[in-house]
Amino acid sequence: MEKLYFVTGSQLLYGEETLKQVAKDSAEMADYLNAQISGCEIVWKPTVCNSTDAEDIMLQATADRCCIGVIVWMHTFSPAKMWIKGLQALRKPMLHLHTQFGRRLPYESIDMDFMNLHQSAHGDREFGFICTRLGLHREVVAGYYRDEKVIARIQKFADVASAVSFSHRLRVATFGNNMRDVAVTDGDRVESEIRLGWNVNYYGIGDLVDRIAGISPTQIDAKLQEYTEKYLMDTPELDAVRVQAAYEVAIEEFLQAEKLDAFTDTFEDLHGLEQLPGLCVQNLMAKNIGFGPEGDYKTGALMAVLCHMAKNRQGATAFIEDYTYDLTEGNELELAAHMLEVSPVFAKNQPKIQVHPLGIGGKAAPARLVFDGIEGGGIAVSMVDMGDRFRLICAKIALTAQPEPMPHLPVARVMWKILPDFSTGAEAWIRAGGAHHAVVSTSLDVSDIRLFAELMDLELITIGF
Ligand code: MN
Repeated sequence: MEKLYFVTGSQLLYGEETLKQVAKDSAEMADYLNAQISGCEIVWKPTVCNSTDAEDIMLQATADRCCIGVIVWMHTFSPAKMWIKGLQALRKPMLHLHTQFGRRLPYESIDMDFMNLHQSAHGDREFGFICTRLGLHREVVAGYYRDEKVIARIQKFADVASAVSFSHRLRVATFGNNMRDVAVTDGDRVESEIRLGWNVNYYGIGDLVDRIAGISPTQIDAKLQEYTEKYLMDTPELDAVRVQAAYEVAIEEFLQAEKLDAFTDTFEDLHGLEQLPGLCVQNLMAKNIGFGPEGDYKTGALMAVLCHMAKNRQGATAFIEDYTYDLTEGNELELAAHMLEVSPVFAKNQPKIQVHPLGIGGKAAPARLVFDGIEGGGIAVSMVDMGDRFRLICAKIALTAQPEPMPHLPVARVMWKILPDFSTGAEAWIRAGGAHHAVVSTSLDVSDIRLFAELMDLELITIGF
């Protein structure tokens, strides 16, 4: 299980008795937080009293592969020069929790001993200064540690820190390369690994085609069973569906063998495949496998990271593409979809498996899921490569019901309103260089993206917040 270290700062000046009390109080706080926070364990660590302690604990956090970050607070005053080497050694996300052991002052009994023991107001400012002086990217949460709002912020930090850890070990396969001549989907893969940890590698589509050829009818039957349990079979062309089933089994095997959590394909390089992967990609996206079409590895990787961040939450998170507008004045709507690959996490109704010809690519008619989209508040997140840095763009959207049925549109679709209004939102997105591919989420909010950008030291532009 992933861990967050709970580290308390003090100093030796206070004497043994006070330090015993500090240890007792901080252990109680760590226990309380551990009971409240889900998805990771909060691990109490002995009080840091000098520079060696600080460096040791931060080196330990950095080396511990299960440790996704540290929570630090100052029970008493802790001279911050002693934290410099430790903070320089720390390579994991840090939450500076500015809180206090007791909620209310004991006005009747308070004396100098009490005040000297409960000095977070004092000690956390000293610690905050050195973090700022060092230019440390971190989260700061202030409030009583038992308050629901504070717990929610710590939970958010735990989710985002887990996504940071996931990002650092994410491996992405691109089957084929970036779509010819397309700019925004391309990017610097070396820089992606340096800045985000993403290990992105090219594979020939033939590597997948070979694997597909080895998939047995029994494996295909099992996959078909999975499809019919989840979706409505709305086609007599079962052979076309079986083709997608074989693709999915092969891709799953490939992902597992190569320890991959995201992949891309491109309709320009489908040699040896009868159909564009459609249904199989849709079903994989619903299992939090990141996907980017047209070789868009950044969107595929970002989707995997954001799905990981949202893994313990309700709602939908997946890749989608900006496609077409309804520009009715005052009620402008965007129709978002893709050629086929829209994740069923966005489905309002039970998705139907259908087979229709595809206008682009010159391949056999592919099986795909068709459905209308969900409604509710959400965000659209795009990552672009600016040449000398990556930029994240996060826009507020409101997913809405489609005003009328679209009986001739043979793909899954989602509709939304760009906020705060069409001109403001769309102009800002265009000016920011936002892509036509994005990850849309109803389970994450802008504060998750802000924190991720802060902890990863990424440029972020927000629109509509
Ligand atoms: Mn596209």
